[in-house]
Parts: sequence; C-alpha cells; structure tokens
Amino acid sequence: MKPMGPIPPAFAGNGPLTIGGRSAEDWAGEGDTPLFVYDLAIVAERAAALRAAMPTGLDVHFAIKANPLPALVAAVAPMFDGLDIASGGELAIALDAKPGAAISFAGPGKRDRELEAAIRGGATINLESAGECDRALAAGERLGVTPRLAVRVNPDFELRGSGMKMGGRASPFGIDAGDAAGVARHLIAAGADWRGWHIFAGSQSLDTAAIVETQAATVMLAGRLADEVGVAPPLVNLGGGFGIPYFAGDVAVDLAAIGGGLASALDIRADILAESRFAIELGRYIVGECGVYLTRVIERKQSRGETFLVVDGGLHHQLAASGNFGTVVKRNYPVAIATAAADAPTETVSVVGCLCTPLDRLADRVTLPVAGPGDLVAVFMAGAYGLSASPAGFLGHLRPAELLAFPVQS
Ligand SMILES: *Cc1c(COP(=O)(O)O)cnc(C)c1O
Repeated sequence: MKPMGPIPPAFAGNGPLTIGGRSAEDWAGEGDTPLFVYDLAIVAERAAALRAAMPTGLDVHFAIKANPLPALVAAVAPMFDGLDIASGGELAIALDAKPGAAISFAGPGKRDRELEAAIRGGATINLESAGECDRALAAGERLGVTPRLAVRVNPDFELRGSGMKMGGRASPFGIDAGDAAGVARHLIAAGADWRGWHIFAGSQSLDTAAIVETQAATVMLAGRLADEVGVAPPLVNLGGGFGIPYFAGDVAVDLAAIGGGLASALDIRADILAESRFAIELGRYIVGECGVYLTRVIERKQSRGETFLVVDGGLHHQLAASGNFGTVVKRNYPVAIATAAADAPTETVSVVGCLCTPLDRLADRVTLPVAGPGDLVAVFMAGAYGLSASPAGFLGHLRPAELLAFPVQS
C-alpha cells in the first residue's frame, strides 16, 4: 500500500488496505464512494490506554464535537465517564446515546432554549460569561429545576505548542480567572448546584512537557480560585488538548508521562481540593485515528508535466486534509492508494477533489503507487473534525456514508 505519512498501526499492512478485517473495496461496495469508515477497535484501544496511564479515579470524557455521528457516539459513550457537548443538537445526540450520562455543555452563545434543554436533561452547563450565568439561573427558575452550573475559567496561561489556543488572552471562552470566583459565589448564593471549574487551555498539542506543565498549572489555579470562593468544587475539569500525529516527523504524546505528571500535580493539590473529582475531556485523541476517508479516482490527468488523480471526494467532506481548517501551512495528511499491491511502482502525484476550487487538494505532490480510474484513495486521520467540520453543502454533492467497523469478538 505504501502510505505517505504516519498512519495508525492497525492500517499498516503490505497488501491492499483493510479496515476492521474487510478490504477497502468491500467497504466501498457497501457505502458507495466517497465514504468514511470508523474502526471502533482503535477507539477501544485508546480508551484502554487512557485508563492504564491516567491516575486512578480520574474521569475521562469524550468531547463529541470531534465526531458527533450518533451511532459512533452511542458505541463510544460506554467506554468513557462522560460526554462533553457544545450545542443543543449535541445534547440530543448525547442524551440518546447514553441515557443518564454525565454531560457537560460548553461553548459561547448558548441560547435560552439550549440552556433550558440542558437543565431539563440534567447536564452541567459550563458558563462562559457572567451574562450566561444569569440567563441560566433564570432558566432554572422558569423550569423550577435547580441548574447544575460550572464556571469555565479563561486561564491566565495557554497550552504551549497547541494548534488552537484557548487561554492567556482576551477570549470569548470562559470567564477571566480574576472574575471566576465572583461568578461562582454569585451562583451559589442564588441557590444553583455549583459543579466546579472547567479549565480548557488549548487543543492539538504534541508537546508532552507542555501538557504536563499546563495540567499542573490548571490544578494550582483550581485550588487558588476555590480558596477565593471558600467552597470546595465537586469537579474540576482540566480540559485536554492531547494531539495526534498527522504529519511526517510528528511524534505521539507520551501518555504515561502525562499520567505520571498529573498524578504528581494531584498529590500536591490545595487542601480545598482534597475531595474534588477530576476529569479530562478529549475529542481528537479518542477518535481521530479511527477514521479513514475513502474516495475513488475518477480521472488521471497530466498538466504541464504534473500528474493529478481526480477523485470523487474532496474538501467538502474532509476540509482539514486540504489544509483549510485551522492550519497555517498546508501539509499533507497521511494518504495511500488503498487498492495498490505491495510491490506496485510509485510516482509523484497530487490528489485533487471534485470541487471547482483550487483549494480542493487532498494531497500535494506525494509519492504513491501508480493509480488510475477505479482505484481507491484512503485519507487517514479522518475520525475527528472530518465530515461535521467540513462544508458538506458546498456544490451540492451527496452526503457520504459513514460506516462503523465493530471490533471482532474473540
Ligand atoms: C473542542 C473541545 C474539546 C475537544 O478538543 P480536542 O482537541 O478534540 O480534544 C474539549 N473541550 C472543549 C471545551 C472543547 O471546546
């Protein structure tokens, strides 16, 4: 298959690509192309690795915005201690997936009806501003239900090496650290059920030392703020931000080192946090590697000495792979010719999508086995921020199928 870039070991084989024991061509036959296949065995492995590495008693939540496919959320939810959501739509998916799940709801701009649905559903609302706190209290009063409210803190530090920074600056997310205790005191006085702190400092970091340092700083901040409130927070959600390797040269985070660092930080935590529970929340790290986007070559063409494989998919399904979703420099996602034999000769080609825009380039001048119409291209690392984070309505193509590969029972 000769892939370009780092691909998950489960997909690395000599012959044509298999996913969950079935050939890519077999999957394509079931779902037509283009399509996504998510291998749940990889998610289960991730869950087990997290359990093994993280301190005992730490809750691990799945942030479903990374992949909100209802069937996937339902399959993945039992592997984790809670679901993090970012909209009323995700609330409905989470409630369906796991009735009674511990749900926490973050995100700016929550509408009153979303706040009400969250309160009715028993979710914890992570407050992003003082104004939202008052709207949530009013919603609770209208419903006659005590709202569960946590204060999301805009920390005075950021996660180093993070692809998306969420702290250390003016922000639409969270309440500035200097104001957080005041909001917590206010909601406690108003009779709400204060669930504690939510502190999320960044996303997609591959810098193990930076993650350890940020988690330690987060535990310290949670203690300092709790002392200001004078009440112990039941839960401290420490965020996450563990990245995954997408590009040649990227190295995976060291889970054991992160778990060890967190255990040390918890050992020396402030007295007021003695009885608090702690959680981390991860999206990309849990599902990013389980997904493969399969798209079929429609045309092979030459232009001014370069070879293009024109496929039936594109950035409308897999925006991130085209380098147009939060990337500064376009680099190639790992790709392969899924139908190629191990000994196929290679060439330099670009894989372009079927949209009428020069942005629609899934791989730029990569070395791949020689391929032509009918062959399947696999784009890896498609399990997180894939279809749901892409402009699927652009140009009116059909929605791709999303299929699940369930682990084979042994
Ligand atoms: C997006 C988001 C996550 C998930 O981030 P990943 O990088 O996918 O792990 C977790 N928590 C919050 C508050 C988020 O907004």
